[in-house]
Amino acid sequence: MSILVILEQRGNLKICGLEAASASRKVAEASGMTLNALYLGRAFDENPSVLAGLGISTLYAYENEDLHYYSNERYVHILCELARELEAKVIVCPATAVGKELCASAAARLQIELAQDCVALDWNETLKAVKPIYAGKVISDVSFSKLPGLVSLRPNTAAIERRGEDLPAIVRRDMPLIPARSTILEVAEAMSGYVDLTEAKIIVAGGRGIGGPENWPVLQDLCEALGAALGASRAAVDAGWIDASHQVGQTGKVVCPDLYIACGISGAIQHLAGMRTAKIIVAINRDPEAPIFQFCDYGIVGDLLEIVPKLAGEIRNRRTN
Ligand SMILES: Cc1cc2nc3c(=O)[nH]c(=O)nc-3n(C[C@H](O)[C@H](O)[C@H](O)COP(=O)(O)OP(=O)(O)OC[C@H]3O[C@@H](n4cnc5c(N)ncnc54)[C@H](O)[C@@H]3O)c2cc1C
Repeated sequence: MSILVILEQRGNLKICGLEAASASRKVAEASGMTLNALYLGRAFDENPSVLAGLGISTLYAYENEDLHYYSNERYVHILCELARELEAKVIVCPATAVGKELCASAAARLQIELAQDCVALDWNETLKAVKPIYAGKVISDVSFSKLPGLVSLRPNTAAIERRGEDLPAIVRRDMPLIPARSTILEVAEAMSGYVDLTEAKIIVAGGRGIGGPENWPVLQDLCEALGAALGASRAAVDAGWIDASHQVGQTGKVVCPDLYIACGISGAIQHLAGMRTAKIIVAINRDPEAPIFQFCDYGIVGDLLEIVPKLAGEIRNRRTN
């Protein structure tokens, strides 16, 4: 009996996979199961120390050019075969766009229970998970009625805790022959210097209140000062001011950064659904009655076009002094 965690890569290993491994180790310790990991990609050429102290017993690295980009057919096939081989009772995957699709397909193929987009894992005689529902208004406790069970874990919800320097054994395997109808040849990044929204520790987001696309540089400057990713409300996306990949919310991305700065965003329930689990929320809005002020930790009432440049300047000053 074992636990299998999926380490997602986009060229390099993604932080969210290491977080998922860390959260899975707690389940492994409480249940007495062994923790193994799965890597799918061109080649596992990371410095193995990146996996040190995470409690992973064996890393199964499937290496092939056709695994560099996500392929539902290939990834699902390999995950399901390995889960059967290892008799995995618990499978954990980061709740990224790729991870959630992979989980849904694998759960259907394996005919097992699935809890998507959870924010915590636990073990008490069976697998337990914590999952926000109803656009984040309710936090539900999920208890698996039978195992194997599959969970996707929202990025930025578990800390990477290392104990000791132990490294996993690495078992390298080539991709088995899998008839696949599609292959992704290239993924084009939308912007240079782009910080992935779902993994970002800090997000600066703009809404209709920014006034127009000509004002994004004001927010981008704050992003640069903070090393933040740029998010947007649906109103800004629908107005054609920014690409939909930046949208945060119910029909956009669900994010959980350490710091979320909402600029000119009113705080509609559909937007909150995507960011209310952020650890600290700062709102800048010129309307003191804006609903976002009921949810934020710090609120600044005023014109964002005046406040944001001052904030960026002050952050740069403090960093250089
Ligand atoms: C099915 C469905 C799904 C949806 N999914 C999403 C989703 O995923 N994400 C999402 O964001 N929305 C979503 N929406 C839309 C959502 O209901 C809101 O319409 C949207 O979030 C509003 O965006 P906003 O806050 O930018 O705009 P507004 O609500 O228009 O708010 C603009 C704010 O900017 C402030 N402001 C204006 N000028 C300034 C200034 N100079 N300085 C400071 N503040 C200023 C105003 O006071 C106001 O509070 C969805 C709606 C539906 C029906």
